[in-house]
Amino acid sequence: MADTPELRLYNTLTREKAPFQPIDPSHVRMYVCGPTVYDFAHIGNARPVIVFDVLYRLLKHLADKGVWDGGKGETKVTYVRNITDVDDKINARALRDYPGMELNAAIRLVTEKTETQFHEDVKALGCLPPDVEPRATDNITQMIDIIQKLLDRGHAYVADGAEGREVLFSTGSMADYGQLSKRKLEDQQAGARVAVEAHKRNPADFVLWKHSDADQPGWPARFSMDGAGVDIYGRPGWHIECSAMSGRYLGDVFDIHGGGLDLIFPHHENEIAQSRCAHGTHAMANVWMHNGFLQVEGKKMSKSEGNFFTINELMTTENFGGRKWPGEVLRLAMLMTHYREPIDFSVKRLEEAERLLAKWPMGGEPVGPVNASVLSALADDMNTVAAVQALHALASSNSPEFAASAELLGVLPKKVAIDQHLADGVEAIVQMRLELLKAKNFAEADKIRDDLLVKGIQLKDGKDPATGERVTTWEIKR
Ligand SMILES: [Zn+2]
Repeated sequence: MADTPELRLYNTLTREKAPFQPIDPSHVRMYVCGPTVYDFAHIGNARPVIVFDVLYRLLKHLADKGVWDGGKGETKVTYVRNITDVDDKINARALRDYPGMELNAAIRLVTEKTETQFHEDVKALGCLPPDVEPRATDNITQMIDIIQKLLDRGHAYVADGAEGREVLFSTGSMADYGQLSKRKLEDQQAGARVAVEAHKRNPADFVLWKHSDADQPGWPARFSMDGAGVDIYGRPGWHIECSAMSGRYLGDVFDIHGGGLDLIFPHHENEIAQSRCAHGTHAMANVWMHNGFLQVEGKKMSKSEGNFFTINELMTTENFGGRKWPGEVLRLAMLMTHYREPIDFSVKRLEEAERLLAKWPMGGEPVGPVNASVLSALADDMNTVAAVQALHALASSNSPEFAASAELLGVLPKKVAIDQHLADGVEAIVQMRLELLKAKNFAEADKIRDDLLVKGIQLKDGKDPATGERVTTWEIKR
């Protein structure tokens, strides 16, 4: 389409930005690695969810414009994000939180609780649900099938490790293993500081399936190798689930695979090895996209540094900056840095995002056209920094393009109906706060102001020009 910019994306595989073309012009297919559900998602986990939500919105917008199907606008977009509900961290959490309970039941409690929380958190961050959200434990058969294919093609082998019988991927069997991370197998061997595990043919070989003891979750699996059956009651390795689920819902080769930078090696490298070798394809996904790291107040986030924050904690407690932060502020703050750059998540940045949001018009319906500057910024490898600037210019000029453009970024300020009951309540709180100000109890007065802001009500302090008395007005921000 003449008026729609060409989408260009940076591809970790080629280390280049290039025009994006779906394999099938009628169907764009994207897979993003999802959460391991054993604990609250932290703010670092929120970054890929928000980044790829913007990409999902952009792909759908361009699909509707008919950029890939000659203007028909019928291209379908499928976004798959998995739930990792089998992992040794989950087992540990289940044993800790539900001692004495039957393990599978305890695991189910941990994973279901965490999954529900994750959904609430990312919804509050303005993220659309993916089209498919498969759980690893619903795809065990598919994983076993891929492992069998790898055994059949000579890319996997069975060996006895310290914790029992395993099926391992044979990295030496893949000529171009290491393509994504640009790590050569020889270098890994030479540089390996850990002692070579004796049962591995190559130190880089990784587990596809491993034996489970009675106190670990497991599934019966029968593999055949060299014509003989091998039974391993066990569980999948870390990487195989993504090969199984992306293949099941998106096909052997699909368009875009995303995740955080920390997943490039070994996770994505090994996903590629499994999928390509099992299916005999030249690629698993054509475009690999990775968001940059996240730091909090200039430091790597860690529990010992005291700068570890969950999404939920930022929204519902006053642990960060002494106040609660609305989800849309967290989202906008995230989009004010380019997704490939490292981001420093700080109170200053959140305040900046909040100031910006406060100046934007609320309650628009995203019906108008999307602004050309916003769209071309996003089409240029999702330059959300430039898109937010362009959006702010639209807000300042009261442009009718604001609402649809903000919606494309998922930051459209929402309309809140003012009802009398609420108005009376706010009026009473405002009066109470004026009393506190008179008594010079500024800390408590500020706290009330911040609490109201979290609820979408902004106070404005001023003076009555006639009497010089302090007055406070308020408005609904969203
Ligand atoms: Zn994955």
